[in-house]
Amino acid sequence: KQPAKIVMVSNRGSYNLQATRDGIQVVPAISGLVSAVEPFLREKGGVWVAWGGREAPQENSPGLRLPVPEGNPAYTFREVPLTADEINLYYHGFTNSALWPLCHYFLEKCRYEVREWSAYVDVNAKFAAATLEEAGERDTVWVNDYHLALVPAHLRHRRPQLKQFFFWHIPFPHHDLLATLPWATHILRGLLGTDVLGFHLQAYVDNFLQAVAHMLGARVDFEAGIVFWEQRRIHVGAWPMGIDYQAFQRQAASPATMARAQKLREQIGVERLALSVERLDYTKGILERLLAWERLLEEAPEWRGRAALIQVAVPSRTAVPAYRQLKEQVEATVGRINGRFSDGNYQPVYYFWRGLPRRELVAYYLAADVMLVTPLRDGLNLVAKEYVASRRDQTGVLVLSRFAGAAQELKGAVLVNPYDIDGMAMIFNTALGMGRAEQSKRLQLLQERVRRHDVHWWMNCFHQAMAVREGETGDVS
Ligand code: UDP
Repeated sequence: KQPAKIVMVSNRGSYNLQATRDGIQVVPAISGLVSAVEPFLREKGGVWVAWGGREAPQENSPGLRLPVPEGNPAYTFREVPLTADEINLYYHGFTNSALWPLCHYFLEKCRYEVREWSAYVDVNAKFAAATLEEAGERDTVWVNDYHLALVPAHLRHRRPQLKQFFFWHIPFPHHDLLATLPWATHILRGLLGTDVLGFHLQAYVDNFLQAVAHMLGARVDFEAGIVFWEQRRIHVGAWPMGIDYQAFQRQAASPATMARAQKLREQIGVERLALSVERLDYTKGILERLLAWERLLEEAPEWRGRAALIQVAVPSRTAVPAYRQLKEQVEATVGRINGRFSDGNYQPVYYFWRGLPRRELVAYYLAADVMLVTPLRDGLNLVAKEYVASRRDQTGVLVLSRFAGAAQELKGAVLVNPYDIDGMAMIFNTALGMGRAEQSKRLQLLQERVRRHDVHWWMNCFHQAMAVREGETGDVS
């Protein structure tokens, strides 16, 4: 008998496949999920089922199965090929133009189109079929995120005894909002195919439980986080994702990283350096933050010449019009602020439209006196945790939006309301001027939390939740 393994399922996986003239190139992907789960797969083996990010060579291409990592294979990467139409309708369409804005409370950006919904249904069926090909009877399937909400019900239908875990990585909205989606009950029923359902926050758990109670009439034990559905119990819990704290500490201690951070500071040459790093996404509050930075320079002119902001915006979803529009607005705003306040060698905003590799990113974290993480809405936010983990000398101020999931955990951060531009400018002023003693007091609190609730803690939550499911006997009504 084969030992039981984990079959991970997510839209993007641990690798991206790129077609080159010399064949398929397998490129490691970077994400919080990959950092969390890949070490486990490398150690224990298993399969990762994912799209791979390329257009399928033909309509009915079978997905590639590749032993990875190259050169030292430890587990299998199983591709779910998507056609150009599917990428357009399912990925750019339903997931990123309906579910993403809906779950982040951007109702005015939601587009509900039946063609896009149909593609979502079809692609979810494709993922389920590939998963069933990979999963043995005793394996545990771990499905991820809003792209694949219908997969659990498919799997349950086709193979009722399969052990299933599902993690939803973004906010889960209140049912008042969810009800605007014409297919909301399908999403809920799809998710209820799983055994255990995880969210980052209790607030998202509560929203989900209320939604299934109100919209499906399901019986719910709110206290215990259990939904009774089709003769099964579904356990629903809050497990905020952690990061590899020690890995960030080690990276921050490397002489090359420290030298790079020093160089950055010298190049920019201001007393106080602020930093923001995120995908260029309207949920991240980039425009509002820039307006607050501009307001700061208007209202507190003593910072002119003395404080600068590095804004790293990682290209993201550039095929979606809302993202292209935002890019133009952000760039125009940066231009205006620099036009107004640059002087001699001084420039108030340094803007980069590119992603940074981990080593470089940590150097930026080290260089920054103040980290501005001010999303309008964010499921959790790992960048905030990574900044905390990288500050080995216990200086540095984390300014964090109260609408980032991480704000629930990160006591010690300076909280802001990113919708309040004046208020945010005042808090930037306080953060830039904060004394070392207070910085260190806050950072100790933050580091304690991020260190204890790290990625190992998070993976352990998953194991424990599945153990509870396995301990149950028989069906319930
Ligand atoms: N990240 C990166 N390079 C960059 C910017 C971000 O590697 O230039 C990584 C970052 O380290 C973090 C992830 O991307 O682990 C972003 O996760 P987060 O939860 O903050 O936001 P998301 O992009 O998932 O909305």
